[in-house]
Amino acid sequence: MQELQLSADGRLRHLITLAGLPRAVVERMLDRAEAMRRDSQGGARPLDLLAGRTLINLFFEPSTRTRTSFDLAAQRLGALVINFDIERSSTVKGESLLDTIHTLEAMHSDAFVVRHKESGTPATIARNLRSDAAVLNAGDGNHAHPTQGLLDALTLRRHVADFSRLSIVICGDIRHSRVARSDVDVLRTLGVRDLRLCAPPELLPEADSAAFAQCTHLQNFDEAVAGCDAVIMLRLQKERMEAAAIPSEADYFARYGLDAARLARAKPGCLVMHPGPINRNVEIADAVADGTQSLILEQVGNGVFARMAVLAELLERR
Ligand code: ASP
Repeated sequence: MQELQLSADGRLRHLITLAGLPRAVVERMLDRAEAMRRDSQGGARPLDLLAGRTLINLFFEPSTRTRTSFDLAAQRLGALVINFDIERSSTVKGESLLDTIHTLEAMHSDAFVVRHKESGTPATIARNLRSDAAVLNAGDGNHAHPTQGLLDALTLRRHVADFSRLSIVICGDIRHSRVARSDVDVLRTLGVRDLRLCAPPELLPEADSAAFAQCTHLQNFDEAVAGCDAVIMLRLQKERMEAAAIPSEADYFARYGLDAARLARAKPGCLVMHPGPINRNVEIADAVADGTQSLILEQVGNGVFARMAVLAELLERR
């Protein structure tokens, strides 16, 4: 995949996955996102780094956070944003995905932000482009959600000094989660050694990723959470489950929900994260989601800066 997303001189061409992305590239984007965050909070005016550029949001799956924050990020950098309306497009007349892309390319778009239920769609688009537009993966199937990985790393980095000393648990529907895959990729790259994956057996991952293979796999959440520094909770991705793969929601919450008693088993001040949308009192108790250790809304805010940094990295020098 690196031959697709990195040019020969190490420049990022597309962002499809964080797997295998060099640490220097990841850190450059995180540093930049952090600088943009500081500038924005210091009252700096929006930048015009991408003035005259056009970005097209192509979301074939629903989105609140990712789409809005890509839109805001691009606008804050001075780009023009088109939110392509799939439901009212010729897609419903049967136009193929690649014909749609080539049509939009003919209108001189500089970047496509793509979310799709099929893993691999952003990479397929990137391989078939006829222009030098950039493709940004905004979540494909259960494969990857690279900007979520970056914003999660950015959020954690603001609270911890040394990634190599962290113990992190990722708990929930790991099997269907592109967030878990991108989080594991970026956390490994940044040096996290103790990564624990916790899920009921039917929601643990298939052996599809080298990164997952090096994590500790646990089924007991009480054990997994003991002594950890951060817990990343995941949504039950019912839309990706064949049949009801879990017992009742009440039973799931009893075994895999994060409530105050379970959180007390972690280190004091353990950080709580969730990519959203959350199912309250199924994955996480209200008191924890809204509690002082929760970074959930901070993650959302950081998403704008992470996406600004990615867009600048991809499009600035084009
Ligand atoms: N918003 C994230 C995603 O699109 C997480 C989720 O939907 O559960 O993957």
